[in-house]
Amino acid sequence: GITTFDAVVVGAGPAGSAAALELARAGHRVALVERGSFPGAKNVYGGVVYGRVLDELVPEWWEQAPVQRWVTRRQTMMMTPTQSMTVDFRTEAWGRPPYNGATAHRGEFDAWLAGKAEQAGAELLTSTVVTGLLRGVRGEIVGVRTDRPDGDLTAPVVIACDGVNSFLAKEAGMYPDGQVEHTTLGVKETLALPRETIDERFAVRGREGVDIEMVGCTRGIPGGGFLYTNLDSVSIGVVLGLTELGKAGIRPEEIIADLKRHPAIAPLVRGGEITEFSAHLIPEGGYHTMPKLTDDGILVTGDAAAMCLAAGIWLEGVNFAIGSGMYAGRAAAAALSTGDTSAAGLAGYERSLRDTFVLADHKKLARAPELLLGDRVQNRYPAMICDLLEGVFQVTNPEPKPGMRALLRRSAKKHGVRMRDLAKDAVAGLRA
Ligand code: FAD
Repeated sequence: GITTFDAVVVGAGPAGSAAALELARAGHRVALVERGSFPGAKNVYGGVVYGRVLDELVPEWWEQAPVQRWVTRRQTMMMTPTQSMTVDFRTEAWGRPPYNGATAHRGEFDAWLAGKAEQAGAELLTSTVVTGLLRGVRGEIVGVRTDRPDGDLTAPVVIACDGVNSFLAKEAGMYPDGQVEHTTLGVKETLALPRETIDERFAVRGREGVDIEMVGCTRGIPGGGFLYTNLDSVSIGVVLGLTELGKAGIRPEEIIADLKRHPAIAPLVRGGEITEFSAHLIPEGGYHTMPKLTDDGILVTGDAAAMCLAAGIWLEGVNFAIGSGMYAGRAAAAALSTGDTSAAGLAGYERSLRDTFVLADHKKLARAPELLLGDRVQNRYPAMICDLLEGVFQVTNPEPKPGMRALLRRSAKKHGVRMRDLAKDAVAGLRA
């Protein structure tokens, strides 16, 4: 059996649901195909949605989205096994509309967004795995195969929203042959804690929440750590370079266990019972590792297109998925209305990406993964800065206090940091 649609969207993560929502709103028959038993069932992330782009897709989304807490406090922590230095920022502005970041569970968030697409008229097919592309007599894409008995779905446009290592994008030839995969592994534990305990330990009230990003906590493996507050649980995890993790022969759980024992983190998570352990790959390479985004009858979005700013210590991806999905849905709708779904007909997609944060931010931060995952930022700077501050804050009586310059020289030398590199990285960091 064959079922015919105007467009087939593969994957009901944030990218897929955004694409299907826009297509349905434009009045097209769209199938949203998801392998999970419901959207978000198995989807893994750290925990914060930076919702600005949602304002455009679902106006006043904050009135209805399943949010745990609003992030009003963000911290970046540099650490060694025994020290830590934190930049701690909070603002009340992020605690009221239109907000900034929200912690949310993917099982709830993805299901909510897919529900919006369904309400607009998209047909959601769950527990359905897309197994390949359907091609016409001239080799053109005409739909997808699925593992259902009556499995083929035909449509002039297919939107690949199937996440990291997208097999659909690969089958369509969008990734150049032999391109090395730039992926890291993210692992996360959810720890149950009473709401009042979280409020006290993280110094927040009501629906306020905290987002902590860490560097220097991964035993020298390129990556970083995160800790986010939900209503009555916290999410703690690490992102790890796969190659180096393999070489180090350490299990990711051991690195999370280290983190939970760290003097700065242990008091925050003490007594938290593990209710969930999950792991997922992250496309880490950024701008220069993106595939071809458009071809005849196909568009690639979100993690499937490596549109995930996840340079070790901060994690965005849901917002890029929503943005790219939304523009893909609009471009497909426009192409369908003119009857030209060739690459030329679908070219509006890439134009929108270039004109907005999706590609502009990636381009600006193209070198960030290299910088942030390099040895200096990962290992040397955290140790140098912690030692420098230990010197600055330590009272040395009856010895006179050493001068700032002497302290800086001493800690830089101890950790093998050259002033020239420090200046160069500072400039590169500021540029990014
Ligand atoms: P996905 O969310 O991966 O969705 C893909 C969907 O396609 C899934 O539902 C999947 O089941 C379905 N699918 C795949 N193959 C098929 C198939 N063949 N047939 C049918 N369905 C299929 N981002 C943030 O913004 N904030 C964070 O705090 C954050 N933290 C992260 C922490 C970790 C540990 C990890 C791993 C990622 C994190 N990210 C974060 C990144 C974020 O999760 C992704 O960028 C985002 O989920 C991408 O959305 P997507 O819709 O492109 O893909």
